[in-house]
Amino acid sequence: MQYSEIMVRYGELSTKGKNQKAFIGRLNGNIAKTLHDFPGLTIRPKRDRTHIELNGTDATPIMDRLQKVFGIQSFSPSVQVEKDMDKVKAAALELVNATAANGVTFKVETKRADKTFPLDTNAMNLAMGDFLTVQRPDLVVKMKHPDVTLRVEIRREAIFLSTTTIKGAGGLPVGTAGKAAMMLSGGIDSPVAAYLALKRGVDIEMVHFFSPPYTSDNAMNKAKELTAKLTPYVGSITFIGVPFTHTQEEIKAKVPEGYLMTIQRRMMLRLTEAIAKQRGDLVIFNGESVGQVASQTLASMAAINDVSVMPIVRPVATMDKTEIIAQAEKIDTYELSIMPFEDCCTIFAPPAPKTQPRIDKARYYETKIDVQGLMDEALANLSIDVIRPGQEFLNQDQDIIADLL
Ligand code: ATP
Ligand code: MG
Repeated sequence: MQYSEIMVRYGELSTKGKNQKAFIGRLNGNIAKTLHDFPGLTIRPKRDRTHIELNGTDATPIMDRLQKVFGIQSFSPSVQVEKDMDKVKAAALELVNATAANGVTFKVETKRADKTFPLDTNAMNLAMGDFLTVQRPDLVVKMKHPDVTLRVEIRREAIFLSTTTIKGAGGLPVGTAGKAAMMLSGGIDSPVAAYLALKRGVDIEMVHFFSPPYTSDNAMNKAKELTAKLTPYVGSITFIGVPFTHTQEEIKAKVPEGYLMTIQRRMMLRLTEAIAKQRGDLVIFNGESVGQVASQTLASMAAINDVSVMPIVRPVATMDKTEIIAQAEKIDTYELSIMPFEDCCTIFAPPAPKTQPRIDKARYYETKIDVQGLMDEALANLSIDVIRPGQEFLNQDQDIIADLL
């Protein structure tokens, strides 16, 4: 089926009153960005929808991209026809034949924006319904929840027909909520948290701690590849690598074992906050989930959170592991996340971290290390990359991966 345009309906943003203009502007900017390598398209934003004129471009790859743009409620590939009833009927029949299987239920739904068109909504519904039931006697008319709805839109310039409505990604256009620092490990949870942040319109920058030689290049590359997996939702994502070896060695040497994890996490959070401030990020996101591991008891969260005044959002805080995994599978990060490249936290993890650390003790043990000096050193050596869709960082050779497993 050769479609002439894809009609995009906005989601939640149509209810946002005064901000509406900014939201629509951002959404259309994001649509244009994700479709930048299809030069044949014309994108026409309107108040409550956007028309993407295909001008001969195949609709399928365009729709794949649109599926990942937050703020889109649904979209429909449509056929444009002259305002001539014979032509409208012929095009409708072709469309219905291409999309409605034998014996399905259907209805016609007309929207008339051009009030000068001689047939009103009802008359158009009847005319098309009658015509189609004669041409396709197998079809059964059904008003409530039919299998196929033929949508007829009478606009000033032409009539548009569609039989397919595809659910969009929902959420809010990325960028409308402002900028945040996302603490990304190589695990299962933080990529899901990052996805959920993007879904609410947050423009995230990844902050990743690495500890060579205790962590391999692969650990860092895995975090970068996870980031690449999320870029289609936003265009590109900045990835900030924070060297953490010296800090971890110092903590290991000076802090009692029960508090190693707590102090490491406090240092991570301090550094993330410092980076966020430098870069104008307003909030920190992480992948903590209540009660999942020792560092994620409420006592632990409180002892870690003690070092920061910046708001911390934990999108997966109340999700079960199975729910997080299901989401990771949906966004295709799960397979990557379970690849066994050791994370800096795993390597320095004490055998029995305190599940009920005390804030006063954490503060006291921290006086044994040079907090500011270690931070300055790490901050002076950040690595900053911009990651784009399709970039690969890990060796995809299955034999090599199999050897590592
Ligand atoms: P994840 O699956 O996200 O790694 P997890 O259940 O393994 O989570 P932890 O390893 O305790 O939990 O990490 C909790 C959170 O701390 C992570 O979700 C992430 O936000 C942050 N974090 C942990 N390790 C790193 C790291 N190396 N770099 C950046 N952030 C990290
Ligand atoms: Mg982890």
